[in-house]
Amino acid sequence: MARVINFSAGPAVLPLEVLQQAQAELTDWQGLGMSVMEISHRSKPFIKVAEQAEADLRELMNIPQDYAVLFLQGGATTHFALLPMNLSSPDQGTDYLVTGSWSKKASKEAAAVRKVGIVADGAASNYMDLPDRQGWKLNPDAAYFHYCANETISGLEIHTPPDVGAVPVIADMSSTILSRPVDVSKFGVIYAGAQKNIGPSGLVILIIRRDLLERAPAGLPPILKYATHAAEGSMLNTPPTFSWYIAGLVFAWLKRQGGLAKMAELNQRKANRLYQAIDGSGFYRNPVARPYRSWMNVPFTLPREELDAEFLKEAERAGLTNLKGHRSVGGMRASIYNAMTEDGVIALVDFMADFQKRRG
Ligand SMILES: *Cc1c(COP(=O)(O)O)cnc(C)c1O
Repeated sequence: MARVINFSAGPAVLPLEVLQQAQAELTDWQGLGMSVMEISHRSKPFIKVAEQAEADLRELMNIPQDYAVLFLQGGATTHFALLPMNLSSPDQGTDYLVTGSWSKKASKEAAAVRKVGIVADGAASNYMDLPDRQGWKLNPDAAYFHYCANETISGLEIHTPPDVGAVPVIADMSSTILSRPVDVSKFGVIYAGAQKNIGPSGLVILIIRRDLLERAPAGLPPILKYATHAAEGSMLNTPPTFSWYIAGLVFAWLKRQGGLAKMAELNQRKANRLYQAIDGSGFYRNPVARPYRSWMNVPFTLPREELDAEFLKEAERAGLTNLKGHRSVGGMRASIYNAMTEDGVIALVDFMADFQKRRG
């Protein structure tokens, strides 16, 4: 069987067991003689899938009862716009911490509909460090404070949620959700596009404190309102059923791995292994300030740009794929989400050492 070791940033690798289960039951799901894609979202068997997925996610993340869990669509980007529309009114300020491409995009979408205050912007460090907390300009009357927990492109991760007092915190966790336990009660909203650490693209999971559902201003169409989706069990219209089913298989797989505490251990070990290999090489380099280095996305550069193409070609030949860095950053990027095995990271580290020996 020819599976590569896939370091794609997203859509990203899924657990092999999950793919195999989906494959095995694709044409005849639960003895129905149909695939899960071919039945009504309102049918009993699908409702069971939907409810089990939510229950498993609640168990994995220890989500308190006063939070709704929504299975939505449109990618995280759609919610960059829907969050301000639902959680603030036009005369209210919203706070955004800008630490890289995704948080900047979120602030731009919000600025199209609401007043946006930029709490701090990491541009001075080229987004390689978190702006000094002393200098943050927090608005105590802001409707919420938004940040990106893991900047997928630059590999900057904020490992503990910022304390901003009473203002509700919204976190874009697209590329770090389920990588470790988090205290959900510290957040107003946690949301994540699925294609990094959950499942197929398009699906978005949104975990929202129920009192915040009541904030949506009158006049917002029901389909754009989180409150309606919560009331309708995310089935106001047809949800992305196949993606929901795959997400459910991933949640079940995570439970079999021992849950998020186990994933945290494994993810930290994987990341440490790779950062140690980079830092100890005197050849490869990661520019992100150490306290904010991501466990999920590890960018690194080679000493001379001319080596990049060769590195990528040889890596590909060794079965290590999708290591090219984002076009805005250059160099390499290894995304090592939950579904990337420790053996996969070891194979990369070994390849890097070997490449250096030959070209260093
Ligand atoms: C990928 C990503 C997004 C965008 O997701 P889409 O599904 O393309 O809208 C937003 N935020 C973060 C942190 C991401 O990694």
